[in-house]
Amino acid sequence: MQDVHSHRLPFDWHAPDRALQVPLLADSPHSGHVYPLDFHSRAPLRVLRRAEDAFVDQLWSALPTEGAGLLAARVSRSYVDLNRQETDLDPQMLASPWPGLVEPSEKTQLGHGLLWKNLGSVALYDRLLSVAEVQARLALVYRPYHDWLGQQVRHLHRRFGGVWHLNLHSMPSGVKALFTTSTVPDFVLGDRLGTSCSADFVATVEHLLRAAGYRVVRNHPYSGAAIVKQVGKPEQNRHSLQIEVNRALYMDERHHRKHSGFEALQADLAMVSKQLASYVRSCAS
Ligand SMILES: [Zn+2]
Repeated sequence: MQDVHSHRLPFDWHAPDRALQVPLLADSPHSGHVYPLDFHSRAPLRVLRRAEDAFVDQLWSALPTEGAGLLAARVSRSYVDLNRQETDLDPQMLASPWPGLVEPSEKTQLGHGLLWKNLGSVALYDRLLSVAEVQARLALVYRPYHDWLGQQVRHLHRRFGGVWHLNLHSMPSGVKALFTTSTVPDFVLGDRLGTSCSADFVATVEHLLRAAGYRVVRNHPYSGAAIVKQVGKPEQNRHSLQIEVNRALYMDERHHRKHSGFEALQADLAMVSKQLASYVRSCAS
């Protein structure tokens, strides 16, 4: 557990190589593993860590050297989920009425809104949260991340006339229960059913991953959430795509550590990053 107030920024910004900069931008909102001191969750750390998209920022670490900035959360998603609307919360979790707008989505109904209520059968809190502590999570963690992402999107769009964004995640291998044995995916690409980026962008990412030998599906069971929705406005030449990678490819989920497949996957994603930067360069020129 760490004190979030002791950090200058609640995220890491891996700046792009300036000489190679392209209007490609990535963010990893769920790979953070800092648990702030004021979290006061009753769930054990080993349970909380299951919510992390562990090591995803490291898997894609080649992006900055290819000219694409990479924003990575430092704080755990179970503290405040950056891939949710600010209004996606359950007033029943609070000790007093929320002073702003409340629009709980189905994520909140499932206990995984802006504030997670449970992880599997484990409840995160044995108390009600104060409005002040939730406001502090928004002010210190949520908004700085979104402000930075928004600034980068606008900056690239102004400079290059368009922006291509990857929202990076990982999915538990248990997702296989949703597929037949022959179709268990290595990657799920989410473009909000064809609405958050150009058809060409998603087809290019799909092609590059398939060419590297991976099984890729689109939009099922993950079609993209708040960040992709917010960034992706293809009619304005703002393209946003969610990429989920199967954790079984690179980590031992039970013991929460990388396994021997990590480096091979990281190397493949370095190759994909290079080709994608080249694709985006051609789109923007
Ligand atoms: Zn995620």
